[in-house]
Amino acid sequence: MQSVCSKCDKPAVYLRRYTSERLCKTCLVQTTIDRVRRTINRHKMLEEDDRIVVAISGGKDSAVLLHILYQIESNFSKSELIPVTIDEGIKGYRDKALNAAKEMTRSLNLSLEVISFKDLFDYSLDELVKMRTDNSLGACSYCGVLRRRALNEAGEKIEADVIAVGHNLDDEAQTVLMNIMRGDSRRIARTNVPRSRSIEGLIPRVKPLTELSERDIVAYSHLLGLVYHDVPCPYSGEAYRNDLKPFLNDMEHKRPGTLLAILRSAEAMTEAFLATPSDWSLKTCERCNSPSPSKVCKACKMLEEIRG
Ligand code: SF4
Ligand SMILES: [Zn+2]
Ligand SMILES: [Zn+2]
Repeated sequence: MQSVCSKCDKPAVYLRRYTSERLCKTCLVQTTIDRVRRTINRHKMLEEDDRIVVAISGGKDSAVLLHILYQIESNFSKSELIPVTIDEGIKGYRDKALNAAKEMTRSLNLSLEVISFKDLFDYSLDELVKMRTDNSLGACSYCGVLRRRALNEAGEKIEADVIAVGHNLDDEAQTVLMNIMRGDSRRIARTNVPRSRSIEGLIPRVKPLTELSERDIVAYSHLLGLVYHDVPCPYSGEAYRNDLKPFLNDMEHKRPGTLLAILRSAEAMTEAFLATPSDWSLKTCERCNSPSPSKVCKACKMLEEIRG
């Protein structure tokens, strides 16, 4: 590896393969922050007086998200960052991650709001999983749908303008492919959808890390010694995305830029979808009044099934 930084003449410590940049420590940190700032601006994700809920899992993605937003938002005195952790109730995993989340937020002088599945839905994820029948969904389906609901409820309680989540480029590319493979093309058309086109009745969710690869995130957090919990969730073996990960990693390795190209394709589909008159009108869930494509939303259906 050539030993000089592409931006200055210091020794390079990192090669960002998809941009062919060789970076020294300082330029790695700076270009990482700049990439996030560009993503935020490109999709108009944040406004200068936003109350921003930052979803913190205790893992590396959300640690980097909070660390970078803290620096970007320090230039906007009217904005506010409110870190929130959803405790799904995964013994030996989320409890440890929660400690990392608390330490991370404390280091930035922010306080952390914690909201649990148990308090909101009467069951922890571990309990929901135990109550599953053979025909039930995977743990990650319950987790994903209910976490989304929990975050929205937290955002409403806090009167947030927007919810920032730490999905990275690898996550987004996996999600796009997953949606294609499940035949759920309409979901692809919500990739980095502008805030102005968010679903009415839900607090807009933005993903400022979507143009940063997982490798970039690991490099940034290691270099700055960020505190995070790095043990995989015990249910991660059930996650659909894990089947796609090796394939996408291999493609990105052979052809750097593949992940970014998938993201850009999905964004182009989103633009085309938004420009086309659509009959995809949402109803209101009869149980909880959330916007929903069917009479009863997914979260309510899941909870009713479990409660019997
Ligand atoms: S791996 Fe699945 S169950 Fe575990 S935190 Fe992620 S979505 Fe939830
Ligand atoms: Zn440099
Ligand atoms: Zn509902």
